[in-house]
Amino acid sequence: MNDLHVVGHPLVQHKLTLMRRKETSTQQFRQLLDEIALLLAYEVTRDFPLSTMRIETPVAPMDAPVIEGKKLVVISILRAGEGLLNAFLRIVPSARVGHIGLYRDPKSLQAVEYYFKVPSDMADRDVVVVDPMLATGNSASAAIDRTKEKTPKSIKLLCLLAAPEGVAALHEAHPEVPIWCAAVDQKLNEKGYIVPGLGDAGDRLFGTK
Ligand code: URA
Repeated sequence: MNDLHVVGHPLVQHKLTLMRRKETSTQQFRQLLDEIALLLAYEVTRDFPLSTMRIETPVAPMDAPVIEGKKLVVISILRAGEGLLNAFLRIVPSARVGHIGLYRDPKSLQAVEYYFKVPSDMADRDVVVVDPMLATGNSASAAIDRTKEKTPKSIKLLCLLAAPEGVAALHEAHPEVPIWCAAVDQKLNEKGYIVPGLGDAGDRLFGTK
């Protein structure tokens, strides 16, 4: 399948440019990520199937559209995933939330898990895994491996920026998982950073550097 959706909406592209600038403060970065996350969440939920529900307006009864199926689960890859999660929950307030804690081993760049907590009833649910940076693809791939153990109905990956290497790795490991992002940059550098990218998303989001 190898689905890749780049959200080219002018508002997303403009805000992404502001986020990339090294002068952008932590406060601005956080605010911009939150704003972009809302727009990306809107896109990633675009194909959710609808059914109808019988309701009565003050004027007449009608069969009105509602999102079909069980509540969505958003799985945030700690810690930078938190920057996409809150906006997502503002437009899908009934969503359930999972967390997966992964850090990147600085030498091997492999993902090492330190935390995993998702809703107990994952079967028949749609999942969106969120992480702003798809760099090597190791973290996203490991998070999706773990999520698949819970046999959800579907899995999508939502990120902000992707490297071609990360997209290729994810498509290789999980060909049926579609990816949504705002841009695919040039490459990864030798430290595993996306070029030109925006630096360390977690540090910029939380002001830890
Ligand atoms: N993680 C980040 O935060 N930034 C990158 O460029 C790559 C991975």
